[in-house]
Amino acid sequence: MQGLISFRTSVLAGIGTVAETGKRLSEMGCRSCAIVSGERTMGIAGSKVAQSLEREGVATEVISGDIRATLGEARELEARVRSLMPDTLVAVGGGRICDLGKWVAHRLGTRLVAVPTTLSSDAFSTGYSVLWDGERNTPVRTKPPDVIVGDYDILIHEPKRFVLAGLGDMMSKVTALFDWRLAFWLAGERYSDYGANIARSTVDLLTRRLENIAKMNYNGIETLFLSEVTDGYLMEISGTTRVAAGSEHLFAFALENMGAEGMHGEFCALGTVLMSYLQDPGRDVRSLFERAGMQVTAEALGIKKEQVVGALTRAHRMRPWYTIMGRDGLSEGAAERLARYTRVI
Ligand SMILES: [Zn+2]
Repeated sequence: MQGLISFRTSVLAGIGTVAETGKRLSEMGCRSCAIVSGERTMGIAGSKVAQSLEREGVATEVISGDIRATLGEARELEARVRSLMPDTLVAVGGGRICDLGKWVAHRLGTRLVAVPTTLSSDAFSTGYSVLWDGERNTPVRTKPPDVIVGDYDILIHEPKRFVLAGLGDMMSKVTALFDWRLAFWLAGERYSDYGANIARSTVDLLTRRLENIAKMNYNGIETLFLSEVTDGYLMEISGTTRVAAGSEHLFAFALENMGAEGMHGEFCALGTVLMSYLQDPGRDVRSLFERAGMQVTAEALGIKKEQVVGALTRAHRMRPWYTIMGRDGLSEGAAERLARYTRVI
């Protein structure tokens, strides 16, 4: 391991933390703030953040609306935020808003605060943004937030489907870690043994707490939230996203690129079931997901059989990563067989 490992993220977590945001940011020297939020998430948390900032006398501007995670809209947002010249950007919402916030804050060099309103993915903690450029979505190195505000009162009340999708995104490590080690041995990719071991222990903890997560009780929500926060640190320690993403994510990216309807974490869960069979047919990942009440068939998720097979044959081309799919990927026949053997179709 060589080079600088930078941990910049502070975490404000617990019940009612959103209302405390203004006070904490003011203590950090925040004087002017721009809040970027989706329309719905403004009502869920954005207005509370704005009120708490105004109470502290912080000049606050709100940019709220249906902003898509495209490079074009990110540039427009950057121009709007630049004209406000805030010292702090607060992104309130899900993965899309957090990805945009990270991109803009990175470009403008402002402090970044992420206030996730859902645990459906780890986007609020990592130093990468995934933005659409035309037909393709590509990851860009941006920056992890300076502060993450996790308000369990908000996260406990999100739809259960979002929490289960987040669990799917996190459990991806089951297959991602296998692929990453393979990439180290067979393709000379950068590897961190320490990062891999910490990542494995977060999977063990999530596995022990599956029932709590499915019940969305305090313990379950806190475990899922902190494991997603940990992903940001893991990627810094490892110097790569591969500590949290492997062939199962490539399958998810392929489905996303094909315009399949559904959530990132749900695609990841399907991908984990599929790739796990290639890596180790004796490992029963499906039953882990089922214990949490997750549906891991294409039909239950509203994905067509042709989309599953198509995504499997394209997945290896999504990123220049070495994985269990090798360099050439799966043929159509092999893809269909794999999907049937794993009961995904
Ligand atoms: Zn993911």
